[in-house]
Amino acid sequence: ISSSAASRVAEPAVAVDELVSNVPTQLLIDGKFVDPVAGRRFDVLNPATEQRLVQMAEADKEDVERAVRAARKAFDEGPWPRMGGKARGKILQRFAELVEKNVEELAQLESLDNGKPIFFSRNADIPLTANHLSYFAGWADKIHGQTIPCDNTFGNFFAYTLHEPIGVVGSIIPWNFPALMAAWKIAPALAAGNCVVLKPAEQTPLTAMRLGQLALEAGLPPGVLNVVPGFGPSAGGAIVRSPLVDKVSFTGSTEVGKIIMKEAAATVKPVGLELGGKSPLIVWKDVDVDKAVEDAHFALFFNHGQCCVAGSRLFVHEAIYDEFVEKAAARAKSKKVGDPFTDVEQGPQVDRDQMDKILGYIESGKQQGAKLLAGGSRMGDRGYFVQPTVFADVQDDMKIAQEEIFGPVQSILKFSSLEEVAQRANNNPYGLGAGVFARDVDVINYLTRSIRAGTVWVNCYNVFDDSVPFGGYKQSGIGRDKGEAALAHYTQVKSVYQKMETPQPWL
Ligand code: NAD
Repeated sequence: ISSSAASRVAEPAVAVDELVSNVPTQLLIDGKFVDPVAGRRFDVLNPATEQRLVQMAEADKEDVERAVRAARKAFDEGPWPRMGGKARGKILQRFAELVEKNVEELAQLESLDNGKPIFFSRNADIPLTANHLSYFAGWADKIHGQTIPCDNTFGNFFAYTLHEPIGVVGSIIPWNFPALMAAWKIAPALAAGNCVVLKPAEQTPLTAMRLGQLALEAGLPPGVLNVVPGFGPSAGGAIVRSPLVDKVSFTGSTEVGKIIMKEAAATVKPVGLELGGKSPLIVWKDVDVDKAVEDAHFALFFNHGQCCVAGSRLFVHEAIYDEFVEKAAARAKSKKVGDPFTDVEQGPQVDRDQMDKILGYIESGKQQGAKLLAGGSRMGDRGYFVQPTVFADVQDDMKIAQEEIFGPVQSILKFSSLEEVAQRANNNPYGLGAGVFARDVDVINYLTRSIRAGTVWVNCYNVFDDSVPFGGYKQSGIGRDKGEAALAHYTQVKSVYQKMETPQPWL
């Protein structure tokens, strides 16, 4: 890595002013862009340059209440839950197509706002956002209950279940995949006929605002999707505490997840939580070391390490440990870091707080005696760039092996036996993702069954298909996003018993 890489950050190779001038900077409530009641705004910064991109409207309690009332009215009286799945699916599909049509603009906005390399925004984040909307558009007319033949001592009954929308859904999302996280929350909720109040993360509201605008253009009725940028305890908290919100769906830190669960208890509101992780990635002795090094690098450094599933506890078998560690350090040193609008693999971290938090963890790794083999510092003095960092000889009880760093810091631990590594992998409060790199199928089967995590990747990592559920065990969360499993969180099951008075040919 060239230590001057960050200083290569010039103005992005896009017309920033023109690009951001298309982004609505008001609140989206009841189908209209409106100013916040108190008139407050907050700065949204470009993490590569620390310059202001826009001054975004800040939703406060009163604004959130207005948005919730709009969603409530749209749900209780409006056409959305009543129009039937086919019509809803068509509108959602149109929404997906508008996202596809605007990939380039949305990708540039995402990279400006979040700092991720344009290659990823253009080829992953935004196309995946469109795919997700399209996937759930397909589900909208396939949500149905069961018929249950029912004969008991009280007589014969025709019983059936209706899968009804749950009502008003409050969705609170983080900054690491701003558009995609918005889609993960709103697509299944809308497909099932709910109305949504979405609060994007304060660091990255730009694409969510544009998505709100595109949803209106696609024909979503007023009040069905409201977008209220603002801060966590105020805007987010107001969503969670509102008695008019029927469900909260949250992705973010475990710490905030716990607060949300407590606050939701006051109104016995169901919560869906996708929280933090400290995912073990286990590399068995029979792998192709070069390939395993590359895949493990991707498992941790993708999105600058700002992934809840980042393979941040990398357990490497002692038989290949020395070779692996040396190559992992060389790979990190070769990583291209810099301006996200150039040909780089890593841009800046999302904001100064995150950068400082990561640098703090790096210091603790050094102090607790882990072996620093690459990186270890900030890059440059403008923008929130952190060197790709590799620590070897990490011990289970070190802070960098226990806590979520959410940055480009790879921690490598040595192991010798299968039982030992399975036990160590599970010795953590989180259970979101895990990886197994091995050829021996018995090793693969043993580990995939032993590890307590919501997703296990075998000889791959960071694969996310719309149709495959995603969520956490233990303190990594409650419930599942994606796939058919997500629909369960956005529907109520109503049971209906119908008495069969006269004898029927059969039940
Ligand atoms: P965060 O929990 O601080 O914030 C997430 C969202 O919650 C933001 O929109 C924020 O404004 C809001 N929020 C903060 N305090 C709140 C409160 N008291 N009430 C209601 N809302 C509140 O997390 P972050 O720093 O934005 O994101 C990083 C964390 O998110 C990491 O720990 C990471 O593991 C986790 N994450 C998890 C997943 C997953 O799918 N499990 C995905 C991405 C990120």
